[in-house]
Amino acid sequence: MAKKQFKTESKRLLDLMVNSIYTHKEIFLRELISNASDAIDKLYFRSLTDQSVTLTREDYEIRLTPDRDARTLTISDNGIGMTAEELEKNLGTIARSGSFDFKAAAQEGKEAVDIIGQFGVGFYSAFMVSDRITVVSRAYGSDEANRWESAGADGYTVTPCEKDAPGTVITLHLKADTEDAKFSDYLEEWQLRSLVKKYSDYIRYPIRMQVSREQKKEGTEDEYETVTADETLNSMTPIWKKAQSEVTDEEYAAFYQEKFYDFEAPLKVIRQKAEGTSNYEALLFIPARAPFDYYSRDFEKGLQLYSSGVMIMEKCKDLLPDHYSFVRGLVDSADLSLNISREMLQHDRQLKIIAKALEKKITAELKKLQRDDRESYEKFFTAFGTQLKWGLYADYGTHRETLQDLVMFRSSNGDKPVTLAEYVGRMPESQTKILYAAGETVERIAMLPQVEAALARGQEVLYLTEDVDEFALKMLRTYEEREFADVCKEDADLGTEEEKEALSKANADAADLLAAVKAALGDAVASVRLTDKLGDHPACLATEGELSVGMEKTLNKMPGIGDEKVKATLVLELNKAHPVVQKLEALRTDDPEKLAAYSKVLYANARLLSGLAVEDPAEYGKLVANLMAE
Ligand code: ADP
Repeated sequence: MAKKQFKTESKRLLDLMVNSIYTHKEIFLRELISNASDAIDKLYFRSLTDQSVTLTREDYEIRLTPDRDARTLTISDNGIGMTAEELEKNLGTIARSGSFDFKAAAQEGKEAVDIIGQFGVGFYSAFMVSDRITVVSRAYGSDEANRWESAGADGYTVTPCEKDAPGTVITLHLKADTEDAKFSDYLEEWQLRSLVKKYSDYIRYPIRMQVSREQKKEGTEDEYETVTADETLNSMTPIWKKAQSEVTDEEYAAFYQEKFYDFEAPLKVIRQKAEGTSNYEALLFIPARAPFDYYSRDFEKGLQLYSSGVMIMEKCKDLLPDHYSFVRGLVDSADLSLNISREMLQHDRQLKIIAKALEKKITAELKKLQRDDRESYEKFFTAFGTQLKWGLYADYGTHRETLQDLVMFRSSNGDKPVTLAEYVGRMPESQTKILYAAGETVERIAMLPQVEAALARGQEVLYLTEDVDEFALKMLRTYEEREFADVCKEDADLGTEEEKEALSKANADAADLLAAVKAALGDAVASVRLTDKLGDHPACLATEGELSVGMEKTLNKMPGIGDEKVKATLVLELNKAHPVVQKLEALRTDDPEKLAAYSKVLYANARLLSGLAVEDPAEYGKLVANLMAE
């Protein structure tokens, strides 16, 4: 029988397993038991609609059989089994998404060794403890059985064989003991018992093993005999059905990492139990980090859906709103019928009620985290804050009540993000609006003349650095009845009444000059005006209307915008107190040509300050050089 080769990716992973120096080799058992349980799930699920499956729930089991003499450990199940093709396909390639994540993480440069055990790389992990593995399997509904066999990376064989009933029997030929690793421990009752308790206690089918015990001989006083009997090693209570107090953080983390293929413990565990109009238990997790595909089209939100402990859907989308799409976990409800179809589920009223309640719960828990554990909340926000902001913007701002207190922004107040409530709480009485400025980075925004001016007045400015920020605030419109104002817009309303009056008089007096500058700049700007908010900067750009410079950039970046670029309406603001304004006024009558050149240079400088490129760099360079040559 010719040996077949593993697919390249699988081979790499296998090599890692075989040569693994990972210390938690014991997780192989968890992986194999979990596969066995999945296989039984599949058959059980089938039995609900397929009358020919005669097994009842009580018949299913996973069995561990250690054989010290043969130095083998066997894990068997009476689940759905595999055909020859399935043996090839499933055990010859990496199928699972977890392994895929593993690859991604390995590419990110994470220590491969470190993540092996945390990920759970499935079946292959058995090669950490075995130098040969045989899998005998018979698929449900087939009379044929097959034996898959492999001694590691050099390939595998599949040959027909005999097997009485459907299911799978995996036999591990354990590696020889070394100084560092005592593989023979995996043949010991105590060890297997404790591993099952540790990793697989919640598995819903009995994990049985023959155990022997010394027992008093019946009818005697002090005579003992060894009796062997089957024992179920797991409690079979799913973790979400156990009392909160019975589950440790480690158990939650292990469960989460295994079920949801994360290599980090969750940032937060949320449990909810409802009784009454709807009955369900929810166990939710907020991951500590965004999955690598989170902000991509490939990411699918959803919670696992169980009906009385049996999974009926892997990813039920309707249970989570988009703004909480990062939440992982499951809902188990006795109210849902087992063989409910997917289409029906979508319209299920019960499901809608659950989804509403979950959203409320998640919101409350996030608020609590923000209040009680700011550091964790900031970590959470780094990972998923952008999603919350898109949530504010989405659906015409429908979710503002839910999200407005959860979002945070950087601000001129320190180097930590602030909430809107914190901002408003600090606002001086005289300030009417919530001020913000947008730009690529905090540093760039802090350099904007208008920001400097606001800070000089003792005002706090929100620094909007993300594309979505301005859109989110636009949709929010107000927070605690206070409007948002871009400091780079006229309506930011920064000055006192007297200042405003003085400024409008100055503008009226300079009407001719401003018109001349505008004429020099043409359509590049909508208007030119004097301002008193620039400190020692000569000029800057402001915008008029809805669209800011940042929004212009974001919108023009959107896919599908084509040539229909949008443009913010720019206004050139000149510093009323800067000597350059007097100079311009003098040139207006003496040397209009030079006035035009100066205007262009000031405008180009203002663009640079706003993070915009100079429109005509060649002309700009010449203008500046000519000024130098004077
Ligand atoms: P995963 O379980 O994450 O898919 P594995 O490498 O552990 O990855 O297993 C690959 C596939 O092999 C499984 O998806 C399943 O289809 C099949 N498989 C593994 N063990 C069994 C088993 N005991 N019974 C039936 N099929 C199994």
